[in-house]
Amino acid sequence: MVRFTSVSGLALALVPGIQAHTLPLLRGMSQLTQRDLAKGTLLDNFDALTADPSRIPPIVKGTGTKWEPGRYPQNCYDKAREALSDTDARPKCQLQDLEVYDVTYEDCPSGRDPWIICRCSNSELSLQDTIDGMGTVPPGARSNVLHVVTMNGFGSGGGYSDGNSIFCGGAPAKTWFSHEAMHCNDRDGFAFSNGEDFNNAINADSCVPDAYANNNPTEDFAQVGTYLNYNINGHAIDYTGKDAGCMGNQLNSAQAYLAERLDRNGVCFNAPGTDGIVNGKRDTRRDIVERDPNAPYEKLLPHTAYGHSEFFPSH
Ligand SMILES: [Zn+2]
Repeated sequence: MVRFTSVSGLALALVPGIQAHTLPLLRGMSQLTQRDLAKGTLLDNFDALTADPSRIPPIVKGTGTKWEPGRYPQNCYDKAREALSDTDARPKCQLQDLEVYDVTYEDCPSGRDPWIICRCSNSELSLQDTIDGMGTVPPGARSNVLHVVTMNGFGSGGGYSDGNSIFCGGAPAKTWFSHEAMHCNDRDGFAFSNGEDFNNAINADSCVPDAYANNNPTEDFAQVGTYLNYNINGHAIDYTGKDAGCMGNQLNSAQAYLAERLDRNGVCFNAPGTDGIVNGKRDTRRDIVERDPNAPYEKLLPHTAYGHSEFFPSH
């Protein structure tokens, strides 16, 4: 699932309940239209990719260091103060429960400032599982993820990416981290997945990775990128009994685009957000909220549903 920002960087009103099958046309992003690709599917879903731990890309060790309370990245702060639902105005996370961490990885001893993970203390996804999930994403692809924000799913779950950061409510499948990271690598404004090269590849192929990928080119790219990561860095996907040649053009196109960002031994870098914010410059960024954690929010934001529920166990 993706959410959209306009090219000017101003967040468009987020439409509650955006689902992949009902992607609305949003002004300024007319190239992002719903388009059922109507392709065959190699797999029904990606369950097989995580059916055995040996199939998952090796987890690179990461270490989190907690921030002192009172300073919060704006997007993390904003997600926390969204209403729980349309009928429950409590915030998704009380400010005193909002934890912020700097996270460093062993495959990235230099070259990039720490990743930032925000989580509510009641998130189903533990800090370690979040660090480990991102540790399955190669360093280059991981570098383009500015923040990871995890909240409680309150009985269900879902997640999305805004193209810079990734957001989660509940406990997702392990492939979710790669999928959302790929959206963050589909820069800028999901331009690659909506561009000529990748769409020519789709047109030339007879299948897409799974049913979810059939929603539109952007979701397809995120699934193709995930397939590549698991195939290259995890267990080569030879256990499905299926011939991936029916999506060979998409695999080649995405692999050429992602290039060294798929390399487990690749380099890390400080990635600018599409809004011009650079992840590593947090101390001089304007989007750090400084607030007494014991004070109530000055203002709650409307409920916004997570997307991508297919990556989460149903309840
Ligand atoms: Zn997605």
